Amino acid sequence: MTRVDLRGRDLAADGVDRDLLPRAELDVEAALEKVRPICDAVHHRGTAAVIEYNERFDGVRLERLRVPAEALEKALEELDPAVREALEESVRRARTVHRDQRRTDSTVRVVPGGTVTERWVPVERVGLYVPGGRAVYPSSVVMNVVPAQEAGVGSLAVASPPQKEFGGLPHPTILAACALLGVDEVYAAGGAQAVAMFAYGTEECRPVQLVTGPGNIWVAAAKRLLKGRIGIDSEAGPTEIAILADDTADARHVAADLISQAEHDPLAAAVLVTPSEALADAVDAELASQVAATKHAERITEALTGRQSATVLVDDLDQGLAVVDAYAAEHLEIQTEDAASVAARVRNAGAVFVGPWSPVSLGDYCAGSNHVLPTGGCACHSSGLSVQSFLRGIHVVDYTRDALADVARHVVTLAEAEDLPAHGAALKARFDWKVPEGK
Ligand code: NAD
Repeated sequence: MTRVDLRGRDLAADGVDRDLLPRAELDVEAALEKVRPICDAVHHRGTAAVIEYNERFDGVRLERLRVPAEALEKALEELDPAVREALEESVRRARTVHRDQRRTDSTVRVVPGGTVTERWVPVERVGLYVPGGRAVYPSSVVMNVVPAQEAGVGSLAVASPPQKEFGGLPHPTILAACALLGVDEVYAAGGAQAVAMFAYGTEECRPVQLVTGPGNIWVAAAKRLLKGRIGIDSEAGPTEIAILADDTADARHVAADLISQAEHDPLAAAVLVTPSEALADAVDAELASQVAATKHAERITEALTGRQSATVLVDDLDQGLAVVDAYAAEHLEIQTEDAASVAARVRNAGAVFVGPWSPVSLGDYCAGSNHVLPTGGCACHSSGLSVQSFLRGIHVVDYTRDALADVARHVVTLAEAEDLPAHGAALKARFDWKVPEGK
């Protein structure tokens, strides 16, 4: 990987200029103009436009997009028992974690006779995107569906790209995972056209209020473009792994973990941040031998040699922490001495993986944590998918006459200070057009 040498810079004092850090050439902003016509076409022409874009990008022309119930049942019946067992374990662990995230309503008595209750209400209908371009992701069915179900979402639909070799249906393992989780509304649609189908609705698919799920740059761009019309979780685009490691790390593990995420996409980012030049050299040597031996060597090489991937040399772990915080990686591994203490100091990351026995691959499938995580630096303001993503908090305000009378003069004063006298009048009207004195 190329090297970026930040040694000798006072990053703690100067801050980290994000332009110094590795970045993809094609970012979400640049992809927006490409997805706009796709979204417009789906808005105006519905299913016919989704079918056309599916044909253009996935090479399959379909008559209809909704997957028949029999295909879902058949996929589950024919699922390899070992894959079923692994999916069930993944679901079990994800449920354990996400069930614990459920919120209960809470009421605060602000004053005698005046309460504010926070009521948590699930979004009514959501669209869950499950990627299926270069790789297929039944694990993303689990990561989307489990938190939505635990939040109590009433209506959920899944979309995943049509697969030529399976007659235009999404991959059978994705269909089986949907059936396993009791999801019966599944569409063969990929990329921006799937996100637009959810946002605008089509003849076949009712519009949703929220779209969640990971995807490539086109999916992330469509989510950004349609945000507002729909809610989105975060921009969970091409995967990123950053590893903060010192010379206690095992170069074989570090290289294997960088490769594991580069495997997703030629645009995936793999970034090693280390104060140890010896480790950086050893990881480069490991990468050379491990990449050659792996199945998807071509796209891994593209990802590791792209502008988005690099080894960043730093003076020490303090400087390293400043770098990983500025980078705000989707996945951050800490492979250092006393990794738990170092991890506790991290401010920005989608998820943090602590020590040598918590690789990102564990989180991709079976840690119990969610793998739909913010990318592109969005981890400095957004969180990964959770039960919270599917809930809205509604404040319910309930005051008695006396409680309102007690505070009325302050409301009127503030309304007048904002030159909004009708706000004050709304209170005065309740008290014979006078302002109660209060206590
Ligand atoms: P995908 O389903 O995201 O994308 C495939 C679709 O992209 C196709 O169906 C097609 O419609 C569209 N497409 C392809 N080329 C296009 C073009 N030139 N213009 C417009 N649209 C085009 O599947 P994928 O490609 O395998 O990507 C999966 C992505 O999901 C990877 O980047 C992976 O890193 C990412 N991912 C992210 C997370 C996360 O939480 N951030 C988790 C898992 C996976």
